[in-house]
Amino acid sequence: MIEVKNLTKRYGKHLAVDQLSFTVEEGQIYGFLGPNGAGKSTTMNIMTGYLGATAGEVLINGHDILKEPEEAKRCIGYLPEQPPLYMEMTVEEYLRFAADLKKISKGERDAQIEKAMDLTKLTDVKNRLIQNLSKGYKQRVGLAQAILGFPEIIILDEPTVGLDPKQIIEIRELIRKLAKHHTVILSSHILAEIREVCDYIMIISKGKLVASDTPENLENMMSGAGHIEIEARRAQSEVENVLRQISRIKRYNCMLEEDGTVKVQIEVQGPEDIREQIFRAFADRKIPLQTLKLNKTSLEEIFLELTQNDTVKEETLDEGDL
Ligand code: ADP
Ligand code: MG
Repeated sequence: MIEVKNLTKRYGKHLAVDQLSFTVEEGQIYGFLGPNGAGKSTTMNIMTGYLGATAGEVLINGHDILKEPEEAKRCIGYLPEQPPLYMEMTVEEYLRFAADLKKISKGERDAQIEKAMDLTKLTDVKNRLIQNLSKGYKQRVGLAQAILGFPEIIILDEPTVGLDPKQIIEIRELIRKLAKHHTVILSSHILAEIREVCDYIMIISKGKLVASDTPENLENMMSGAGHIEIEARRAQSEVENVLRQISRIKRYNCMLEEDGTVKVQIEVQGPEDIREQIFRAFADRKIPLQTLKLNKTSLEEIFLELTQNDTVKEETLDEGDL
């Protein structure tokens, strides 16, 4: 449905998107997750034809976003990070204007606007000026604009940023509702946000895709490489002698507790759970283990580890690069 190949974007010397490649299949909710400055908005702006790429290719249902922008854009509804709202228009006027831009036929227009306003719960405020609406309502107007025309793909850049918890829940519900008939891609720098609604997570760091999978697979894949903790009331050297015999151990870190217990954090190679092996190795040498447990890596830890060193750098906007 969407194919992104080796997408690269430079702003002057700054590499904002670095050889990004991924595909998006129909009917799922995808989440772009990454800290501020990771390149999410840049990627989305390129995918939707708002920004040119330095290199690489974006195909929307087989249409190149640069070479066949009309066909490609017809498949997409986009809510940019800063939605282009006209403050002096009423909600309904603005949506009519947006419908015209999207070349929705006159016959279908009113019914579509009704439906979009109904989905985003805007009907009650349709005659209000946009400038008088709260942040949450403005966001809904942006969303209504994105879903007008009911394109196959709906792309939402940080759709819940700046909203209060109740509004966030409403937007999430709306996203889930949309996902029944559309493919939805949304971005966020907040893990909880993405985990809550997405079927598939793409973690972006410094313009690179560093991991992509379902939330469950990401956790499972990484948890094997998670830590096993053991405790034994023996000399550290004795404990280490046993650990050295176990080939699957990647590295370990011993700590001596006040009561003389040796506590070890063990990092394992690969996804296999080697607790049984560890148990047997110590039992063979008649060393009882006080503790033997698997500390599962949480998605939070995975996210932190993958995006570490990702310092937020706000570059000055260089007009020449736009
Ligand atoms: P995100 O949406 O993940 O926060 P962005 O795509 O907005 O990230 O930005 C990626 C990087 O590109 C950041 O380092 C940002 O400062 C830089 N950047 C974004 N837009 C511009 C621009 N118009 N000119 C120069 N640098 C930019
Ligand atoms: Mg952004």
